[in-house]
Amino acid sequence: MNTLSVTDGPGLGIYCHIPFCLKKCAYCDFSSFSRQSEAVIRDYFAALHKEIRKFIEENKKFALPAVDTIYFGGGTPSAVDVRHIEATLLLLNEVFQVKDDAEITIEINPGTLTADKARRYKKAGINRASVGLQAWQDFLLKILGRVHSQADFKKAMELLKKAGFNNFSVDVMVGLPGQKITDVMETVQAVINYAPTHLSCYSLILESGTPMANWVESGQLDLPEEDEEREMHWAVDNFLTRQGFQHYEISSFCRPGYESRHNVKYWELVSYLGFGLGAHGYFNNQRYGNSNDLDEYCQLLEMDKSPAIFDPVMSPKEQMSEWMFLGLRKLGGIREDDFCARFGESYFVPFGEVIQPLITAGLLAWNGSVLKLTPRGQDFGNQVFMAFV
Ligand code: SF4
Repeated sequence: MNTLSVTDGPGLGIYCHIPFCLKKCAYCDFSSFSRQSEAVIRDYFAALHKEIRKFIEENKKFALPAVDTIYFGGGTPSAVDVRHIEATLLLLNEVFQVKDDAEITIEINPGTLTADKARRYKKAGINRASVGLQAWQDFLLKILGRVHSQADFKKAMELLKKAGFNNFSVDVMVGLPGQKITDVMETVQAVINYAPTHLSCYSLILESGTPMANWVESGQLDLPEEDEEREMHWAVDNFLTRQGFQHYEISSFCRPGYESRHNVKYWELVSYLGFGLGAHGYFNNQRYGNSNDLDEYCQLLEMDKSPAIFDPVMSPKEQMSEWMFLGLRKLGGIREDDFCARFGESYFVPFGEVIQPLITAGLLAWNGSVLKLTPRGQDFGNQVFMAFV
């Protein structure tokens, strides 16, 4: 396999989707399947590896940047045999130039981690773990249909520490049925005792067709009111910032210097490749998305066909638009100079008529060089982002 040449500029990100879980959570509409046989999982990884090799073959003409982030997401990457993850990393290292200091993350469900897996992830070069806790209270984990308990989370933390992981993120959720603000605070207080470098705090989004949505629609479960959910979000923000975390993106907090380098690529319109079922990528100013159908994904690759459907190459106006609505997710905002460096003009030229009313409405703030969301803008983020579409 050819080694690809390296260009200057931002590194390339790689996302690998592992669509298997022990059991489907009640709120989940991601591309994931529970209780698949080892044969299905093996075939899936064979297809995934074929897709990676195929990409390299088809893009030999491009001088790809070196890879500086790799992210195994899901699904539950920690649910599959560790050998599949090791083999995938070996392949990525073989066909791409992966930088020595690349950030390599794996998502972990606490109910699926073993000492062997933790040790072997570390040995394989994974240096960042993203642990899906969601809530500290077992009654909430049960409502969510998570396979793990609070005790599993504690054990997973011990295993990760023992294996030498000191860079890890924990996912928590607010706005859950039956959740009180005291539950949220107990969760974040408990989590920071494990010294994570990063926390993601997501609001529950009810996806239609999921068991959770049906329970809420039929009145079996009640969600907190919207203002209560916002109160939870701000309580987390206040607590974590007092503890020295930086709230750097709507849902993301980190210790200084520990932003998710991979996720930042999404918000800064940097190229990344998505491999695997339903994975998305952005490459050469073009977005693409893979088939969401597991059989179709594997069959296409078996026939040596690409599972990707490409959007048209983005026009400069579309790139500007994405730069704005993705970039404004970062709470540090968007520097006018950075926009000018990329597009040759200020964002006030194409978007002045969009920006001004948002400033007047108190959703955006402009300090003469940076445009960013106000706290009120964070509460109405979607309204702001949609204005740039
Ligand atoms: S572990 Fe994640 S991907 Fe799997 S079912 Fe639960 S929410 Fe969905």
